[in-house]
Amino acid sequence: MEHRTVLISGASIAGPALAFWLARHGFRPVVVERAGALRLGGQNIDVRGAARKVARRMGIEDDIRAATTGEQGLRFVDERGATQAEFPVENADAGGFTKELEILRGDLARILYDRTRDTTEYIFGDQITALRDHGDRVTVSFEHGADRDVALVVAADGIRSRTRSLIVGDEPRIRRFGLYGSYFTIPRGASDSAWARWYNAPGRRAILLRPDNVGTTRASLWFLSRQRGHERLGVAEQKALLASVYADAGWEAPRVLAGLAHAEDAYFESISQVMAPRWSHGRAALVGDAAYCPSPLSGMGASLALVGAYVLAGELSRHADPRDAFAAYEKRLRPLVDMVQKLPPGVPWIAYPRSRPGISVLHRVVRLASSPLARRLGGRLGSSPADGIELPDYPNGG
Ligand SMILES: Cc1cc2nc3c(=O)[nH]c(=O)nc-3n(C[C@H](O)[C@H](O)[C@H](O)COP(=O)(O)OP(=O)(O)OC[C@H]3O[C@@H](n4cnc5c(N)ncnc54)[C@H](O)[C@@H]3O)c2cc1C
Repeated sequence: MEHRTVLISGASIAGPALAFWLARHGFRPVVVERAGALRLGGQNIDVRGAARKVARRMGIEDDIRAATTGEQGLRFVDERGATQAEFPVENADAGGFTKELEILRGDLARILYDRTRDTTEYIFGDQITALRDHGDRVTVSFEHGADRDVALVVAADGIRSRTRSLIVGDEPRIRRFGLYGSYFTIPRGASDSAWARWYNAPGRRAILLRPDNVGTTRASLWFLSRQRGHERLGVAEQKALLASVYADAGWEAPRVLAGLAHAEDAYFESISQVMAPRWSHGRAALVGDAAYCPSPLSGMGASLALVGAYVLAGELSRHADPRDAFAAYEKRLRPLVDMVQKLPPGVPWIAYPRSRPGISVLHRVVRLASSPLARRLGGRLGSSPADGIELPDYPNGG
């Protein structure tokens, strides 16, 4: 048996962050990623609250700051492009939409990978197919590679984790909101600036355009639908669906749809949360979205992944028996996860009115919420608690 070897499934945010801390604590991390290479797609995510402290302890806060998108805030616009309300960038730990540490998801994944590639074995283009827990070790089978005996297994493979079901079966519940989101990159247009723009179209549809740090624009389309399963369609079918849903959406929809037709990084999801009654079984555990995806509505997915990885590795360094470590990890993190997953009443429906009068009401509400006084009083746009956990100190700088 490879005594200190921990096999992690997924090389996005949670997986490499866990590998970083495990290596610090003297374990031998191995990360297996289903994709053939590091996936660098995705949009702006932010690092806030306790996650910012974790980033500082990892020594990557400056790297993140150097790679921020430069977004100056968010404007709600109407069909003529006129600004109805604006929310300037806020301190990373305050409310508001744009945070001080906004970074493209792919840039954060790259920073974490670069920091761990010398201390971690990365296997791309493979995935776990079976786990056999012998009590003192786990035998792991792969789609392509040979079986391996390892000390522990951790699923960090996202909201649709397959490894999760090998660990805790079908216990976790997926909480759907009837909201679909699609993210992709389009050429920068004359109307794009350092401000993000949010546009509501009647029929519970919205378009969000955000600046990035590489001269393109990050577009996302959001719509509510009672129909299930759009996320399981192929990419071409999803693009066709979006083209028909947004055909009469107005504003800059034609330009966005033209960009979508050529986009190679389109990512489509049914916005959901993972509600798992437990995050481990025997010698295997879950971390990040695989365990407790809070959904983009919370704005806390990357932050929870960073904090979860830190706590899980730290508890493993403290306990001889991994089961005790997993229990301690869950005890420490669960209150934060519960708080983050609790969304304000009416979210997400409130942000997607059905009619033009409904959109006018929404604009009046956000105008009020955007006043300096309201912002000082904590008027938050669906953002989640920034901190909510006393970050433990672990050995080895953790
Ligand atoms: C390509 C991509 C784009 C994203 N874009 C956005 C965005 O624009 N906005 C936003 O808020 N969030 C986005 N997310 C989600 C965001 O990264 C997570 O919510 C958050 O950062 C927590 O990360 P995670 O590492 O737990 O999970 P994820 O970021 O979902 O990463 C899971 C990783 O596991 C890999 N994987 C999946 N299945 C297997 C398997 N069976 N075996 C091995 N590896 C597997 C995936 O390829 C991925 O690399 C995106 C995720 C991905 C993968």
